[in-house]
Amino acid sequence: MLLNLKNLKTYYRMNNQIIKAVDGVSFKLRSGENLGLVGESGCGKTTTAKSINRILPSNGGIVGGEINFQGKDLAKLSDAELNKIRWQEIAMVTQSAMNALNPVYKIGDQMVEAFQTHIKINREEALDRSAHLFSLVGLEKSRLKDYPHQLSGGMKQRVVIAMAMALDPPLIIADEPTTALDVVVQDGILKQFVYLQNKIDSSIILVTHDISVVAELCQRTAVMYAGRIMEQGTTREIFKEAYHPYTLGLINAFPTLEAAKDNLISIPGSPPNLARDLNGCRFKDRCPFATELCEQDPEITEVGPEHLVACHYPERVAEFREKAALPKT
Ligand code: ATP
Repeated sequence: MLLNLKNLKTYYRMNNQIIKAVDGVSFKLRSGENLGLVGESGCGKTTTAKSINRILPSNGGIVGGEINFQGKDLAKLSDAELNKIRWQEIAMVTQSAMNALNPVYKIGDQMVEAFQTHIKINREEALDRSAHLFSLVGLEKSRLKDYPHQLSGGMKQRVVIAMAMALDPPLIIADEPTTALDVVVQDGILKQFVYLQNKIDSSIILVTHDISVVAELCQRTAVMYAGRIMEQGTTREIFKEAYHPYTLGLINAFPTLEAAKDNLISIPGSPPNLARDLNGCRFKDRCPFATELCEQDPEITEVGPEHLVACHYPERVAEFREKAALPKT
């Protein structure tokens, strides 16, 4: 197992309140597998991603759980030990990563620096490897001679994806890597990601609110809501055999790429305030299936091989889904 997250809890402190952004998240990721982490804005996806390589803001901290990565619990490592893992073993690409490119240095120089900071390599070799990475992400190697301002936003984001891949990390965490770009460019870059999957050995955790992207890119999907995972399984099962009402809600609103900028989710209501003490199922106030039982926390049930759901009524949801799928007579 490449990554095994067990009961991760990450909280923020703000204005004398404790915000339980991640409150008991568990999932596993095998080498070579891609996982899509999906859910509405504010459900804790980014906090989960930042917890894994511990780049949380100063008011946030991991308060419980384990982050087992290749035999080490990252939650317990010192900063110095973690620094050896960041980039070399776990690279991160965020929405705003392209803004981190230094405007006064040529792209090629920044690629060389990215290599030389971590490994012993001469300039020529680093430039050769950069040219190869550029071909993988769909950039001309002549772009290595450009300054960042000579590149479009989409090209800059491709540069940071190439940088993330530079050291062949076993894990790349991509947090909404294309959301800041226009839709046509997003589509191009995501297609490139699909192509990359076959070329590199890294596993990818793709954080996104756009579940249609996950359908194209990830073998596994974890659906997050209000700081918890509601359902996880193979992407195929999540789309075809969902057992959690929240997953059904996300899928019913299955957006096309063109609609991705608009409000994606048609589930009435909004997620609960994570600064409150939440009792029972966190989705109960928005759930058409909820009963008194949902005042209690649901157990996690295995509804198929490695297909887990946190709901008291998975069978009712399945029945509803099957009826809804029948052709109308
Ligand atoms: P989005 O898609 O909007 O980025 P998300 O699912 O990634 O959302 P997070 O950004 O992880 O969710 O936020 C989870 C919760 O933690 C939210 O209630 C958010 O307001 C809160 N939060 C995030 N960052 C901080 C912070 N630095 N200080 C206090 N609260 C925070």
